[in-house]
Amino acid sequence: MAEYDYDLFVIGAGSGGVRAARLASELGAKVGVAEEYRIGGTCVIRGCVPKKLLAYGSRYAGEIDDARGFGWTCEGLRFDWPTLIHNVRREVDRLNGAYTRTLEKAGVDRFLTRASLDDPHTIKLAGRDGKVSAKTILVATGSHPFIPDVPGRELFITSNECFELEELPKSIAIVGAGYIGMEFASIFAGLGVTVTVLHRGDQILRDFDDDLRDGLASAMRNRGVGLRMNAEAASIEKEGNGFRVNLKQGDCVTADLVMAATGRLPSTMNFGLQQMGVELGWNGHVVVDEYSKSSVDSIYAVGDVTDRMQLTPVAIHEATAFAETLFNDTPTPVDYSFTPTAVFSEPEIGTVGCTEQKAREMCRSVDIYKSSFKPLRATVSGRDETMLMKLVIDGETDKVLGCHVLGADAVEIVQMAAIALRLGATKAQFDATRALHPSAAEELVTMRQRWEPPAAVAGSDAAA
Ligand code: NDP
Repeated sequence: MAEYDYDLFVIGAGSGGVRAARLASELGAKVGVAEEYRIGGTCVIRGCVPKKLLAYGSRYAGEIDDARGFGWTCEGLRFDWPTLIHNVRREVDRLNGAYTRTLEKAGVDRFLTRASLDDPHTIKLAGRDGKVSAKTILVATGSHPFIPDVPGRELFITSNECFELEELPKSIAIVGAGYIGMEFASIFAGLGVTVTVLHRGDQILRDFDDDLRDGLASAMRNRGVGLRMNAEAASIEKEGNGFRVNLKQGDCVTADLVMAATGRLPSTMNFGLQQMGVELGWNGHVVVDEYSKSSVDSIYAVGDVTDRMQLTPVAIHEATAFAETLFNDTPTPVDYSFTPTAVFSEPEIGTVGCTEQKAREMCRSVDIYKSSFKPLRATVSGRDETMLMKLVIDGETDKVLGCHVLGADAVEIVQMAAIALRLGATKAQFDATRALHPSAAEELVTMRQRWEPPAAVAGSDAAA
């Protein structure tokens, strides 16, 4: 008789958990997985996928305006939120089914209930008699929204509730100017909601390249999104049918809804990790080594719960490396180099590699090439739009260290550029690549003039 019921038991069926469970099972392991909410996890159920569908929906107002410049008559069109949110939920249900069938087909036992640890090899499943045992336990419980500890914090909604709104507010105040703040500010603004973003810092999107931060902030302001910097919520209270956010700086902002987009915390509480002696980091994340092993030999963790990079493809990579290491005899450390990332704002951001600021800290010599221009489409649509492309080069090796794009299709462009950067492409190799004309992305292979601080190029036109 086998020593354990399972070779692997996974807690949490999100992007990381599902990938690890499926691969391990396909590699011959006996696998069980527990999920207390819905199979698919944050990305599929109330994150990346439905968010991007909402972003698509929110862009039509601008596209309809664009269409007029191209000769279309677009009168009488109107937007209906219940239709959009219903169709998004239908797609989420389909994906939830697809993920469930994937596990089923791979022969993974599924338990739709909360799991907790009884000892380093034993799992209790809520609402079921008995316990199950496993040689290895993988914690893939993800993360949850963090809400600042201010009076009235229970009045905030988070991105989770955005997918449950039955009607759109007329106005919303969003606290936080990171990924989620910028994405939902763009979505709501595109759908006609009056948006005010309150950010404690002096510019949006900390840690992104400064040109992207400045470019997106100015484009969003141009679209009528209120971005208030150095504005920190002191308390929230109800006012009439809406809410008032009192600011530490003295004044206040009123809105129909208030949303916290202030980061996500690893979900590590109340299922026995501490009792097992698993080491947790500063914000409660599971501390793991490069093979995703925790401080307890039989317990591993992947995805947001480890707070390495809170991104779906990273969780999937960590899960794949974990399965290869434990169940395919191929020790595979995780590798985060040149992980591209996107902000699905309007306009959108795609970015990979080093920011200019980071490169200047790391390298003795840094060359910058950048171009900001009006995209061809905007010349006829009349949209007030500027696209930005920027390459950060190691001046000594000529290697492209960073590629940053703001504007239409930035995300698609940067995904492809990430291949070149990962392969160690040089600026000379970018330059040797034929342009695809007319496109916006051709700027990345046609920028010849090194950017110098404005004073040094007085009189020149960077967009020329
Ligand atoms: P981010 O870390 O991106 O942004 C958090 C924002 O909230 C920052 O502006 C931060 O300010 C501010 N903030 C944090 N704490 C407080 C506080 N106590 N009071 C006031 N403001 C505060 O987190 P998000 O919630 O936007 O997203 C969570 C994670 O999810 C992201 O880090 C990302 O990894 C992932 N994600 C990825 C997406 C994508 O790939 N497109 C989309 C959505 C989420 P400051 O800068 O000063 O710290």
